[in-house]
Amino acid sequence: MRRLFKGEFMITLKFGGTSMGSARRILNSSDIITGRAKDSRVSVIVSAVAGVSNLLQESIDCCVTEDSSEKFVNQIREIHSHICDELLSVLKGFDKKSVMEKVDLLLGEYKKLLQGVTAFGECPKTIYCRIMGMGELMSSPIMEAVLRAKKQSVLLLDSRKYLITTGDQGEGDPDYTATTKALIHYRDGEEINQPQILLFPGFICSWIGGTGCVPLPGLLGRNGSDFSAAIIGSALDSKKVEFWTDVDGIYTADPRIVKDALIVDDMSYEEAMELSFFGSKVLHPKTLAPLAAKNIEAWSLNSLNVKSRGTRIGRGPFESSALHNSAVRGISCLKNTAMISVSGTGMKGKTGMAGRVFAAVSRVNVSVLLITQSSSEYTISFCVPGTKADRARDSLAKEFELEIQDGIVDPIEVHKDCAIVSVVGDGMIKKRGTAGKFFDALATYGINILAIAQGSSERCISTVVRGESGDKAVRAAHVFFFHSTQSIDLFLFGCGGIGAALLNQIRKQQKKLLEQNIEIKVCGIARTKKMLLNAEGINLESWKEELEASDKKTNLEEVLKFSTEQKLLNPVFVDCTASYDLAERYLDILNCGMNIATPNKRANSMSMEYYKKLRSTANSMHRRFLYETNVGAGLPIIDTLQNMFKSGDRLDGFNGIMSGSLSYIFGRLDEGATFSQAVLEAKKNNFTEPDPRDDLNGMDVARKALIIAREAGFELELTDVKINPLFPKDFDTTGTVEEFMTRLPEVDSYFTEKIAALKKEGKVLRMGASIQDGKCSVGLLEVDSENPLYAVKGGENAFVFHTRRYNPIPLTVRGYGAGASVTAAGVFGDILRTVSFNPEK
Ligand code: ADP
Ligand code: ASP
Ligand code: MG
Repeated sequence: MRRLFKGEFMITLKFGGTSMGSARRILNSSDIITGRAKDSRVSVIVSAVAGVSNLLQESIDCCVTEDSSEKFVNQIREIHSHICDELLSVLKGFDKKSVMEKVDLLLGEYKKLLQGVTAFGECPKTIYCRIMGMGELMSSPIMEAVLRAKKQSVLLLDSRKYLITTGDQGEGDPDYTATTKALIHYRDGEEINQPQILLFPGFICSWIGGTGCVPLPGLLGRNGSDFSAAIIGSALDSKKVEFWTDVDGIYTADPRIVKDALIVDDMSYEEAMELSFFGSKVLHPKTLAPLAAKNIEAWSLNSLNVKSRGTRIGRGPFESSALHNSAVRGISCLKNTAMISVSGTGMKGKTGMAGRVFAAVSRVNVSVLLITQSSSEYTISFCVPGTKADRARDSLAKEFELEIQDGIVDPIEVHKDCAIVSVVGDGMIKKRGTAGKFFDALATYGINILAIAQGSSERCISTVVRGESGDKAVRAAHVFFFHSTQSIDLFLFGCGGIGAALLNQIRKQQKKLLEQNIEIKVCGIARTKKMLLNAEGINLESWKEELEASDKKTNLEEVLKFSTEQKLLNPVFVDCTASYDLAERYLDILNCGMNIATPNKRANSMSMEYYKKLRSTANSMHRRFLYETNVGAGLPIIDTLQNMFKSGDRLDGFNGIMSGSLSYIFGRLDEGATFSQAVLEAKKNNFTEPDPRDDLNGMDVARKALIIAREAGFELELTDVKINPLFPKDFDTTGTVEEFMTRLPEVDSYFTEKIAALKKEGKVLRMGASIQDGKCSVGLLEVDSENPLYAVKGGENAFVFHTRRYNPIPLTVRGYGAGASVTAAGVFGDILRTVSFNPEK
């Protein structure tokens, strides 16, 4: 590093589009420059005003088909003149007139160029570069005038005289020696002639197409002002280059994709290079190489928050900070890429095939982003920028024309719209298991990996996924590597008793869960006719009113589409209805990538074929199908059974009282109530369904028994469950609810006598289910005082499992097995299980 005069060093500052986005921002950036210029000589590189480069691009695209030059010229003039007006009003001495003269001169040329584009119906590269470079040519005189008004010693230099490129005209390779030579006067010249601030427009350069050719306008590629700063900083031997942008530094992932991404304090050149190469937009991919070559430190800083430390990029490796003690420093995603595969029997064991593949691609100037080869050498796959896929494929098809004709090489395969998701970190070389964790993260969230590549430096592992999964994959990896907040995006169908209780419980817990890194958002609420959808999360204080006011008709398709479009990481569909139709759609819901949590027993008591399909679909989609509340509401039954059977236990027998209303009714009989009295009381206390026959007919219990039997591995259908009727054969159970209730006293004596007889034997009557020898039945049980069901009454449920391990004393679970709030709590538990994996650091 070269010491300049009076002990000064040169430093280079680059201000991106947002730092140049308005009069206020430009002034703010100029303050940073003047602050730095007090202690150092500075070179400053500025981007176009935010949005202008995109407008220029748009104008070219539009003018190819019709002359819209007027519109764009006016729009771009308006942006700059508005900024100048504002600057004039707050900055004394700001020379608006001379700036606008320069801008107008450029706009005159711009208009003619656009009209030329319309006349030709195309935009040749030279014209493209001239037009695209206008943004920086207009923004830099504004900064110059601001600095002059602030009495700074500033010199605006035309980057096209100093930055020379070859190769691609719009994305060229710089001739570093030429730049150093051209700028040598500013580096080594006498102090007396040196301005304190050298100002350069970023992005633009001159391009030389071949030896002896005249220089033409060129560019350094979109986002290229970063690269301009690196080239200039390197040529001037700067002590450091500061990249001033709109975020506090480099984050562990794009903060727009991962909301709780973490700032990285220090990063090695190599890490930053890999991240930017593989899509992290924060720095142009070529920026770091010239800085690393000269050990010039780079800093990523926020011009809107000058107090933040920013990220230093330098000679690593750096220790990871306590905040994110991970071998991985960052995660990036490169979109719009294509994966090309060349395969066939002719590839195997033959030397020179890979050479031919890549020579064919490079002949048509396509750069390869990533390569993988199967160990059988049968396939070589690689990724290229999406826009260049056709060109690469045609060249390969030509190269292998004969082999393809003979069938020893397959037709070239192209997967368009892929994304390369990479995890990067110097620490990976020392820490084992990074790849495993990365793939595990993607698998957990159901993201399919098309290809995998790891560089030999072991600094970067990349996976190729379908384009639409790119952001999701970044979020998934971030959860695993940085312990970031795990999200749950909920869609609730059915907001009656259980559904409403669930929403209430979620509302109360939301904040606490967030403290534990679980963010639960209710994105959809539907009842029979109306629904609400909101990607940001529905306000749970006012969901009832909002739902009432909603004019959206309930439509499952729309919910599925919404979930797919929003690319939700962990969508959970909650079915709190008792509907058959919805249960029949569970496969579609799982196939769309959602988890399901439900107290609805319908799906699990449909055909065995559907039962199996639900599980295989959930498995293949890496999604959870959770139904703890199907049996015993909030009581821990299903999960307990699954763990027991998974660990090798076996069900030998089961007895249970699985209905709160039947538990209540038969308990009352013990206490001397008549049957009709007991039913009436239960009905009045809302322990029964509106029609008590729905409880008394045993169907609900039969479904629960079937679900338990299926958990235990018995392949039974609902029709295999024998329901022994509760009532004597000749009792008429037809008619309306009222008719039935009026007729009920006819059976009182039947039950009273039965109970009296049992009492003499020390037994009581219960209505429940049994599973014995693989057979399932529901009906009246006569139980003695030894039996755990003897004391079960008052609405309580009891489940008695005789298993190989729980023998002779059975495993018994007792407690309230019904009611909106305990059931909702059980569903809530299931919902939380979708994030129950534990990605350790
Ligand atoms: P400028 O115009 O200043 O060059 P850019 O828009 O080109 O700014 O780049 C900054 C943006 O890069 C940020 O606003 C952020 O959204 C995005 N970005 C992507 N990945 C990252 C990352 N890992 N860390 C920080 N910012 C990132
Ligand atoms: N203005 C150019 C672009 O938007 C270069 C840059 O800002 O880095 O691509
Ligand atoms: Mg940029």
